Amino acid sequence: MKPTKPITRAFCVELQQELSIVAARREYFSQEPPRARFEFLCSSEPCRAQGVKVTGVRYDVKPQDNPTFVSAHFRANPHYDHHADCEWVDDSDPETELTSSSDPQTRLRQLKRKLDDAIDVFDPNPKEPVKEAATREMVGKPSEQPAPAGLVLPPREPATPRYSETRTNNLERLVDFYRQARAELSPEDFKHLTLRVAGQGEVTLRSYFRHIKYAQAGDKDRVMFGGGLVERYGVGFKFVFFDRIDGKRVSLYVSPARMQAYRSSRYINELLSHADEVKFFTFFALGNLVMSPSGKSLSLEVDDLRHLAIVLGPAREDAASAEE
Ligand SMILES: [Zn+2]
Repeated sequence: MKPTKPITRAFCVELQQELSIVAARREYFSQEPPRARFEFLCSSEPCRAQGVKVTGVRYDVKPQDNPTFVSAHFRANPHYDHHADCEWVDDSDPETELTSSSDPQTRLRQLKRKLDDAIDVFDPNPKEPVKEAATREMVGKPSEQPAPAGLVLPPREPATPRYSETRTNNLERLVDFYRQARAELSPEDFKHLTLRVAGQGEVTLRSYFRHIKYAQAGDKDRVMFGGGLVERYGVGFKFVFFDRIDGKRVSLYVSPARMQAYRSSRYINELLSHADEVKFFTFFALGNLVMSPSGKSLSLEVDDLRHLAIVLGPAREDAASAEE
């Protein structure tokens, strides 16, 4: 059978675990060049047993703002049929035309189906969920095989039980959802997208993100974002937003020691290493906006570097040809 739902997770053969496409991208760019592409199998146990391949699309392209938004996503491989019990096959819910007369819940579900990886629930707690072992059994046990040399196993994302909502604690995945929704849905449809945030309840996706120019000291518990430039301090860095708040400079500082201790620092370094080729970076951070003791500037503080997602800005004209 062919999958009828967007495939949001797949089993990575090299890493021997299930990943979202965003996690696959992070692992891909965490490799030392030359980087090897991954092979993916369907996340459902009966499909995996039959070697059903799934295609990872554009996870080997860095997250970047381009005139046309193209998201990383998984796609069914036309040469493989999926098992009737596959979690991505759902006969009971054939794709229906998006109509404005549909009831709001149906319409919301239809809107989300237009996107590659629509998130229903975001858990801002980046720690491993306690019940993970139990939920993973519903989607197949992780393999016991060790990862090949040179690859560090990423922290597991909470698995989603069959037919339930898509849940993640991966901020970068939420950011990709936001970016794709904003790029591909009409402004009216985008306004209706909702997100359940663990500990906060249901909010509109739009309201969970706040551009830094509309932020103020004391803001927290939402994703603040904006464009700016990076200054390096050894392996650490300071990101300075273009927009000021009441004339005050806003920055986000990560010390060298903090970068060194961070598991995905190589990925951040890889993104920031393109500073000469892009006009700016866009930083998305789930943190607290605090006034400096002097009252002259503000700093956006993140308590966990996993609460930081970086998107490359458009290429500079003079560097466009230098892109790999
Ligand atoms: Zn399958």
